[in-house]
Amino acid sequence: MSDAAGSPIAVQAGEKMYDLVKELYPICRSITGDGVRLTLDIIKQRIPLTVHEVPSGTQVFDWTVPREWNINDAYIITPTGEKIAEFKKHNLHVLNYSVPIRRKVMLEELKQHLFTLPAHPDWIPYRTSYYKDNWGFCLPHRQMESLPEGEYEVVIDATLEDGHLSYGEYLIPGETSDEILFSCHICHPSLCNDNLSGIALTTYLAEYLATRSSRYSYRFLFIPGTIGSITWLARNEDRARRIKHGLVVTCVGDAGPFTYKKSRRAQAHIDRAVLHVLEQSKERHNVIDFYPYGYDERQYCSPGFNLAVGSLSRSSHGQYPQYHTSADNLDLVSAENLQESLQTYLDVIDVLENTRTYINQNPKCEPQLGKRGLYSSVGASADGKLKEMALLWVLNLSDGEHDLLQIAERSGEPFAAVRDAAAALVRCGLLLEAGDGAAA
Ligand code: ZN
Repeated sequence: MSDAAGSPIAVQAGEKMYDLVKELYPICRSITGDGVRLTLDIIKQRIPLTVHEVPSGTQVFDWTVPREWNINDAYIITPTGEKIAEFKKHNLHVLNYSVPIRRKVMLEELKQHLFTLPAHPDWIPYRTSYYKDNWGFCLPHRQMESLPEGEYEVVIDATLEDGHLSYGEYLIPGETSDEILFSCHICHPSLCNDNLSGIALTTYLAEYLATRSSRYSYRFLFIPGTIGSITWLARNEDRARRIKHGLVVTCVGDAGPFTYKKSRRAQAHIDRAVLHVLEQSKERHNVIDFYPYGYDERQYCSPGFNLAVGSLSRSSHGQYPQYHTSADNLDLVSAENLQESLQTYLDVIDVLENTRTYINQNPKCEPQLGKRGLYSSVGASADGKLKEMALLWVLNLSDGEHDLLQIAERSGEPFAAVRDAAAALVRCGLLLEAGDGAAA
């Protein structure tokens, strides 16, 4: 995946990703409904997504595709005639997937349907009620505390009817049918880091990879959380076996350090590739073991599939104060952070695409590198010493037993240096790829 000169891949898309977040931010999404469709339409202006519509009631493993939720308006009228918790001012004000309601209630009853965050009294929380019929409103705690006794009118002008679950899919074919999966959820309303940052990164990653030739095929899924991945897996059980590596993309726009949640396999190639990239970055980062909660990796890593899918984010699921609140807004994410995240994803892809196993064709003592021009070509550069060590490591460990990622791990050299060293050694005939008639 490196260009002809072997330099690291880089694409500048930070501003474009941020603009996409901004465009998608006002839309009220849920696990089903027109907000999801509109979101997919906007992504489709950038990449040729196939949009699937799965009817409500469809059985998907142990689950059933739910009804479609659409909303026009929602608000509360106070005893003094004031309109509050207006959906049209902030879509987090309505309990997502609320059943429709229009009635008068006393404050005491209303309070059973109000959700607030006492620890952050000015923020609106994000709450859902997908698999249990309920209605409700979310509002700043400070506002809730100031509500007077009396009769309130509550209006949620929404529909919950049989319809479809919508999701988007895009496949970029590579030299082989082995696939790398990137999956993001598209079901959250106005929340930037959790949801929109993942959509933006996945979109521009796909747009970029479509311009490159690659060894792997790349599959991109834009799906409602949980029910979307379950639906895709139920409809694509055989195809899922082609997924060799995968990442769930979310929370990639904030300023937090990178967090990698390992796949259930823990030692899969994707786990090692991400860890190598993060360690080489020399930046602070967190690594956490797989646990059966979080995002769609829960489904990809269920025991019946056990796919090598981890999740690479910045701040992680539930671990930042703005998580699932109105403070996860356009100020929490930035073009710079999105760009850095995209570059990290590309670095991981570089490892996955270019990890091969080679065999040293001159294994009895070191070959003389000087007479092949290898010392002179690298010795002059500032980091010549580093590249020389990479050459020696690649020669020493290319015995058919170690692939380039293993050589990078053991030597502590950056993968790109090892990759470039291997390419130089192949050019002068000192290395042959295993399986290419090379003998160990
Ligand atoms: Zn979430």
